[in-house]
Amino acid sequence: MRRLSSNKASAEQLSKGPVVVVPPKHLMAPSGANEVAQAFEAARHEIEAAEIPGTPPTPPETMVTDKYAYAFDIDGVLIRGGRPIPEAIEAMKWLNGQNPYGVKVPYIFVTNGGGKTEKERCIQLSKQLEMEVSPGQFICGHTPMREMAERYKTVLVVGGEGEKCRHVAEGYGFKDVVTPGDIIKDNQDTTPFRKLTKEEYENSRARNFAKVEIEAIFVFADSRDWASDQQIILDLLMSKNGRLGTRSETFDEGPPVFFSHNDVVWSASHDLTRIGMGALRVSLEAMFKAVTGKNLETTAFGKPQIGTFQFATRLLQQWRKDTHGIDSPPDTVYFVGDTPESDIRGTNEYDQHSENNWYSILVKTGVFEAGTKPRFTPKATVDTVLDAVKHGIEREYRKALKASLDLPELAHAIEE
Ligand SMILES: [Mg+2]
Repeated sequence: MRRLSSNKASAEQLSKGPVVVVPPKHLMAPSGANEVAQAFEAARHEIEAAEIPGTPPTPPETMVTDKYAYAFDIDGVLIRGGRPIPEAIEAMKWLNGQNPYGVKVPYIFVTNGGGKTEKERCIQLSKQLEMEVSPGQFICGHTPMREMAERYKTVLVVGGEGEKCRHVAEGYGFKDVVTPGDIIKDNQDTTPFRKLTKEEYENSRARNFAKVEIEAIFVFADSRDWASDQQIILDLLMSKNGRLGTRSETFDEGPPVFFSHNDVVWSASHDLTRIGMGALRVSLEAMFKAVTGKNLETTAFGKPQIGTFQFATRLLQQWRKDTHGIDSPPDTVYFVGDTPESDIRGTNEYDQHSENNWYSILVKTGVFEAGTKPRFTPKATVDTVLDAVKHGIEREYRKALKASLDLPELAHAIEE
């Protein structure tokens, strides 16, 4: 496993095999995060590989607990407006062994945020949290879209800065990726009030859309220009088989639309929440109804969808198998998030299906508004991510203590 400094690492370097990203300060102040970062990177490669090798290696000696794990939402929990939430760095130190119990706890990151590859997210978070992380620890809203590259050839990709999302989609294996810029370049009358900048015009690819059938639409990240993006999506939804310039008479011949998540609001630098991709989805559905009189069916990935939690479970299970020789996920996963509708709802619903326990913790550093009651009730509500980490570690300590005192009825009471 290679180690790359977050000051020098590029997404391209990270695609050349298992890598852990090291913060610049690491050599002076070891974060203790290396073992967990490496092990998840290895586990991720195993679950994404077609063939699993025959004899599993003997698990190495480790201080990292296999009983429980943490899964973190990023925006509003660890990061806000591009900067770490002050308690986040201390919280990660606790997990990496700097706590009164001398335990190390494994963790992954499950974000609905998009527009960057898992690798770019990893480089960024390593810098922000001043610790080692690996791309294998990241699950993004658009991670499941990777599996749709086999099914659809020509696709429209919407959202994000410049050409970023085209590159993410191509990295996922999509063969023919169209952007709204390509469409405006071909016919500038598509969007009466939007002209491409010189740079956008140069980056956009010239082609004749009268001859192209777009098979699916993927909203990878937040739209930077709602009006023109929605016009283009609506044109395709109302077309015959995704061919621009045509109109279906029944309005049910257009391509399907997929969103990488469904969060209506999110927590950015502004004091109040900002509208996000879920709002674009609502808006698009309402417009389709207004224009055609018909209902539009769309699909969203990310939290709270079950697929995201299933993927997280497979990753944690592979990690536990590799590091502890136990072929099942950790008994409890503490999920820390700030959005009741995605983080808390998803965790609670998944907890009802899963063989292990998923324990939802709401923090107040993100979309939470003081004095309101969240629509989905967390198992615990705390101020910051550091309190969330302490809550779980202390709860596990009490559970273990009771179990060792052989008082099953008390241990059970604490479970409640
Ligand atoms: Mg969040």
